[in-house]
Amino acid sequence: MGFKTIIEPFRIKMVEHIKMTTQKERLAFLKNAHYNPFLLQSDQVMIDFLTDSGTSAMSSEQWAGVMRGDESYAGAKSWQRMEAAIRDLTGLEYIFPTHQGRAAERILYTYLGGKGKTFISNTHFDTTRANIEYSGAEAIDIPIAEATNPEFIHPFKGNMDLKKLDALLKEIGSAKIGGVILTVTNNSGGGQPVSMENARGVSKLCKKHKVSFFLDCCRVAENAYFIKQREKGFENHTYKQIAQEMFALTDGAVMSAKKDALVNMGGFLALKDKKLAEACKSLLIISEGFTTYGGLSGRDMEAIAIGLDEVFDPNYLHYRIISTTYLGEKLHNLGVSLIMPIGGHAVYVDAQAFYPQIPVDQYPGQALVCELYKAGGIRSVEIGSVMFGKYDKKGKLIPAPKELVRLAIPRRVYTQSHIEYVIEVFEKLLQERASVKGYKIVEEPEFLRHFTAKFKPLT
Ligand SMILES: *Cc1c(COP(=O)(O)O)cnc(C)c1O
Repeated sequence: MGFKTIIEPFRIKMVEHIKMTTQKERLAFLKNAHYNPFLLQSDQVMIDFLTDSGTSAMSSEQWAGVMRGDESYAGAKSWQRMEAAIRDLTGLEYIFPTHQGRAAERILYTYLGGKGKTFISNTHFDTTRANIEYSGAEAIDIPIAEATNPEFIHPFKGNMDLKKLDALLKEIGSAKIGGVILTVTNNSGGGQPVSMENARGVSKLCKKHKVSFFLDCCRVAENAYFIKQREKGFENHTYKQIAQEMFALTDGAVMSAKKDALVNMGGFLALKDKKLAEACKSLLIISEGFTTYGGLSGRDMEAIAIGLDEVFDPNYLHYRIISTTYLGEKLHNLGVSLIMPIGGHAVYVDAQAFYPQIPVDQYPGQALVCELYKAGGIRSVEIGSVMFGKYDKKGKLIPAPKELVRLAIPRRVYTQSHIEYVIEVFEKLLQERASVKGYKIVEEPEFLRHFTAKFKPLT
């Protein structure tokens, strides 16, 4: 302690080569990909900040676990280890493995949802909302008011608005509520944490109105880090104790293990209520697999059990959050507008502020994504009007509320020099910002257009 540099709390035993590219090559790659980095091949990318999902580096212990994986159809030892790790963490009785987070969501929300039902969340993640709406139910987001102001500093900007929750539960009535979902950290809201006080408040209101309370716990360890650092009364708790206390407030949890379980694939559903668990079990067996593997290999389950332990290592969590903050604060000091304070897994750049000359219907976020790639081989994702824009009846763009670009940081993958390089690329882009122009969409699918849309640069 006391030193300025936080070293990565791991050393590298196996390396994956990054193919170095020149700016000229990248211009050709990007043109071939129709100016949509989703259409790039991974070896055309030098620093991949597209997502933190399923992109973690596993540890030597996890790889050793992969070799130990028990591939028995029923009653595999690897399942017993995964189940024990999740039960220890969540304290929940009924645990089901799934192939990723959205499979757990589909099972739970298909059963609890349907026409006439409403779910309430601090912010539903895209797949959560999609599964709820696909069932016919409605999804309402009620983040605290402070969350809508990007530069406003609040320690727990991921919190749910408790006054609104109370009012909504009263108005809608428990019979029509599918459930209340707290997403920790709040991914779509900038990776912002939720306080224990807020989780207690949600739990209390759910009990009062007799509705179920679920945790979308993809980043529960990162959230625990913020609680220990920022919330009174948790200074002497371990990160795991903090997470355990939060789970104890709930009726169940869904997790994408591709985040804080430090694996490349997997997820789970954990429940308190036996009747609900029985119903979900049937849906699991029909669509995912038997209850002791649920779409996962034994080796995946082994790696999840180990990852759920490793993620609570204080040195890991400190390195993880501090390195994300490091990138964000350096960019902020350069004068880049960001969602503040910096969240746990990603830095969100305000692309409209970066390129004020580009109107929303020429997609400033897409321009920044393309410039980052051209200048530095960095892949990021637009979270603005390309992703969330809609058209009115006359075909005019209804823009998204914000034009953001997300730099999501994979876990244990990049070193500080990779991050320094990204900061330098931003310095270059800042110098050249005045000459950058927007894009137009030349081809797009009806749904989820950001994945496959084709663009053309405007001149
Ligand atoms: C990633 C994610 C999901 C969905 O998980 P998948 O494993 O991608 O299916 C759900 N909720 C949140 C908050 C997530 O970040």
